[in-house]
Amino acid sequence: MARTASEVFNLAKRGELWAGHLIPNHTKEGGAGTANTATASGARLENRTPIDNSLIGYIAAGTAADIDAAVKAARASFEAGTWSQLAPAERKRVILKWVDLLHAHHEELAALDCIDAGKPISECMNTDMPATIDTFAWYAEAIDKCFGKISPTGPDALGLIVREPIGVVGAVLPWNFPAQMYAWKVAPALAAGNSVVVKPAELTSLSAYRMTELAHEAGIPPEVLTLVTGDGESAGEPLGRHADVDMVSFTGSTEVGRLFLKYAAESNLKEIVLECGGKSPQIVFDDATLDDHLVDNILAAAFWNMGENCSCGSRLIVHQSIKDTLITKLIAALANWKVGLPTDAEVKIGPMVEAAHFMKVQSFLHSAREQGAKLVHGGRTFPELGSGWYIEPTIFDNVKPDSRLFQEEVFGPILAITGFETEEQALKLANDSNYGLAASLYTQNVNRARRVASRIRAGTVSINGFSEGDISTPFGGYRQSGFGGRDNGLEALDQYQQIKTIWYVGG
Ligand code: NAD
Repeated sequence: MARTASEVFNLAKRGELWAGHLIPNHTKEGGAGTANTATASGARLENRTPIDNSLIGYIAAGTAADIDAAVKAARASFEAGTWSQLAPAERKRVILKWVDLLHAHHEELAALDCIDAGKPISECMNTDMPATIDTFAWYAEAIDKCFGKISPTGPDALGLIVREPIGVVGAVLPWNFPAQMYAWKVAPALAAGNSVVVKPAELTSLSAYRMTELAHEAGIPPEVLTLVTGDGESAGEPLGRHADVDMVSFTGSTEVGRLFLKYAAESNLKEIVLECGGKSPQIVFDDATLDDHLVDNILAAAFWNMGENCSCGSRLIVHQSIKDTLITKLIAALANWKVGLPTDAEVKIGPMVEAAHFMKVQSFLHSAREQGAKLVHGGRTFPELGSGWYIEPTIFDNVKPDSRLFQEEVFGPILAITGFETEEQALKLANDSNYGLAASLYTQNVNRARRVASRIRAGTVSINGFSEGDISTPFGGYRQSGFGGRDNGLEALDQYQQIKTIWYVGG
């Protein structure tokens, strides 16, 4: 039965939102595959909501043994062909049944992400969940329309170039878009015929757990899609090092992404795909139209999801002649960005995900001032909202390119503004980063738009608006923002497929 948002919030108040492992025939305490196991005396982690730091339940604390059990189940199912050998149209049929169940549980899943990550409920309902469900539907519909190739041989041979599922896939997820990041990995990996072991972020396992339960209910075999909850060192690392995992698709910080390359190098050379952090520039040229559309898009890029967004447009690079006017407009429009409890449908800025992250974001407020930036808006925290971790949308001007705020990913609601005079300067500033995930630029000059877009070193460049593209366009990073593949688009399937040549000799 699907729960309403208020039922989810009541369960949270009573501390009864649990997530355990979903691994068939795995009897280890704390890991037998039902929610209640996370409350057994076995290893478990407290789950606190960032809304007010109250205890909302527990998650099972996964270990190497749990990962091993999940990988064994995945390997056995892959070799048995229960999913990998199904016709793509049959996999599509089952995934679309799952899509129906996800639709029926839309509100429940949105509420789980809201309570777990502190994301505004309106965003979870109107953006995250529709995008999550569409991702499953899109890959289900795509997979029976993907063709192989025939090579241009003479009549004495036939060369087939076919795509096969890669095998056992590990999906390691971040906390900032819990349901959506699950869908970005699991949908193409399953559609392609792999068996998947999911390791959600320890801060946000609830929607991943519930969606996996619904997958099994829809008919995806439980061996084919397993879930192990737990923290990075105890559950993530054993997955990265497991000798029978064929690939890991990771989304998270650049720092942990590096570790997965090491795990692969020191184990079985599994393939690794990394979707990591960003420090995305937004460039506003002096011929841009400074209207509400531009202002709303700049603010959305900087502050959507509290800035806890990999493509967050956290560096605003503005032509000097329009900088003061634009800042005045941004500050005026921020009046519409209500900070408060994310369960309130009017709220656009909820809390930071946890205390440690709140402290990290606050440290940027201090270092920005110390490094000569000028605070033009915000900077407040909200003790009156209780024990959560709230920070006001904040804007600093005159941010120097060599400062921490210009160079490091904050992952919070802080926008850094830097002025420029020439197009070359703007490009130099935009590319002055170790990251290269996304960028936006604003101009009415189409030649400039094309020229600058082609010279920005980022995986996605949007023009006259903030966007990550949509499910049909690949998303991923240049430089230290990513490595090895793309999420979204038909290109995401490449991560999860091997290419094989079959050569028939003789005519
Ligand atoms: P994180 O790197 O701390 O954690 C990500 C995952 O890795 C979690 O499941 C965690 O448990 C696991 N992990 C942590 N330490 C580990 C270890 N030592 N060994 C193995 N696994 C480990 O990232 P986060 O804080 O959850 O997410 C925020 C980061 O994710 C930001 O940098 C953000 O930019 C990035 N992100 C990128 C994209 C993208 O598409 N490029 C999307 C969303 C988030």
